[in-house]
Amino acid sequence: MTSVGAVTGAPSKELKVTADAALAVPITVAYGDGIGPEIMEATLRIITAGGANLALEEVSIGETVYQQGITAGIEPAAWNSLRRTKVFLKAPITTPQGGGFKSLNVTVRKTLGLFANVRPCPSYAPFVATKHPGMDVVIVRENEEDLYGGIEHRQTEDVTQCLKLITRPGSERLIRYAFEYARRYGRSKVSCFTKDNIMKLTDGLFHRVFDEVAAEYPELESEHLIVDIGAARLADTPDAFDVIVLPNLYGDIISDVAAQIAGSVGMAGSANVGTGIAMFEAIHGSAPRLAGYHLANPSGLLLGAVQMLVHIGQGEAGSRVHNAWLRTIEDGIHTPDIYDSSVSTAEVGTTDFADAVIARLGAVPNTLRAVNYPSHSEPIAVQVRSRPPARKELVGMDVFLESRAPVAELAKDLEANAGPDLKLVMISNRGQKVYPDGVPETFCVDHWRCRFQAVQPGGSVTHTQVIDLLSRLAGGGLQFIKAEGLFTFDGHAGFSLGQGQ
Ligand code: NAD
Repeated sequence: MTSVGAVTGAPSKELKVTADAALAVPITVAYGDGIGPEIMEATLRIITAGGANLALEEVSIGETVYQQGITAGIEPAAWNSLRRTKVFLKAPITTPQGGGFKSLNVTVRKTLGLFANVRPCPSYAPFVATKHPGMDVVIVRENEEDLYGGIEHRQTEDVTQCLKLITRPGSERLIRYAFEYARRYGRSKVSCFTKDNIMKLTDGLFHRVFDEVAAEYPELESEHLIVDIGAARLADTPDAFDVIVLPNLYGDIISDVAAQIAGSVGMAGSANVGTGIAMFEAIHGSAPRLAGYHLANPSGLLLGAVQMLVHIGQGEAGSRVHNAWLRTIEDGIHTPDIYDSSVSTAEVGTTDFADAVIARLGAVPNTLRAVNYPSHSEPIAVQVRSRPPARKELVGMDVFLESRAPVAELAKDLEANAGPDLKLVMISNRGQKVYPDGVPETFCVDHWRCRFQAVQPGGSVTHTQVIDLLSRLAGGGLQFIKAEGLFTFDGHAGFSLGQGQ
């Protein structure tokens, strides 16, 4: 390993930090597990030297907290600190194996309403190897909803279920955030990826809200792609994208792909932004096998910290740190994860890398684009528009039940117990209609969705009629698992049809 001193570095201006303790912005800091303490120490050293004026409140998260039996992995006192400072700089943690533990990240994001996960993924070619030298994508991922509610049930011997929730306000504030972000940072296009050709109601809502919000930003180009082709194009031609906004699961996967093809997951930082509180972190984990060797790349956490400085109105320090970091990368001073003898000039550890960045504070990159954040900007604020509620009407009930009986026999039992107000209109298995007019080839499990609607075509039903129906089904020995109301909203069906219906 070469020491930084041996490298012909860039000239660095002497930095005069006039940190005024009275103006110091309080932030909550967690050192995390594995490489967390090493990269946090390096990050704090760099940003303090770069002029960040911070008052740190340290809290415990991760392994030690989990070991105390606190299943969320964050000490209870930390919540008060987070409410007080409203800013969280967090190192990665090691998630314990086995059941009974909750994801700390998901808990923090959801508890504090951190709805937008913003992850810039630029490439640093030719200084960090990448197949996509022109890439400069920002992923804005929804952070609280979708399949991440953790609402899962085992329903039958054969079947488990995870509930996917997409909400209008959740989608709207995220999508507005993406457009506001694009406007503030001079981006020209916002792309949206969903799978609404299949999930017409949930992803369909996200897409519809995207189109509505996009119409309010005519100066920005907007486009929607089905997520599979969107992901393929991103992996192949990332230069074609600018800002991409996605629901939670697609965003989780695609943001890692984007960071990796830009150069390395070890170099991406992210901001988790809410209406009042925000959390900043590296996207990678605690790399336990690297811990203690002081070889980890602190860049991901450092770039998360730069986003934090911009967020708290210390953009000048953010620019100084970011530009010094770009210059360090450009000068070829690289940690082992990105070291490449064809472009690197020195292979350094965490501490020497931090020293190299500090030595370049005040310098700007020669080839890579320098940043220039506004010195005092307000965090991006978004409002969700209020809408008059739709006229909602109950028109039937999907009763899910467990049975091993053949579908014809099941249908006979259901029809016998339907009663005077509701009639059986359809049975589906795994979403595929199997009654009436099913075909023998359809593979069926022990989980049936049985759709009952008003006997009068297009008529409404009452909750009492539904309860009577469920009582009759239970009396007839039918093992129902759950009942899901079929509603219309201003006359439009709020439920999907069975495939084949
Ligand atoms: P990881 O990101 O920790 O490591 C993946 C690979 O990247 C490893 O080879 C590692 O050595 C390397 N790597 C990661 N960060 C690096 C850095 N800064 N410098 C150099 N190399 C780096 O992912 P993992 O191994 O799947 O997970 C390890 C632990 O981290 C698990 O317990 C996981 O649950 C946790 N995790 C935490 C977070 C978080 O706290 N935000 C995120 C992801 C994973």
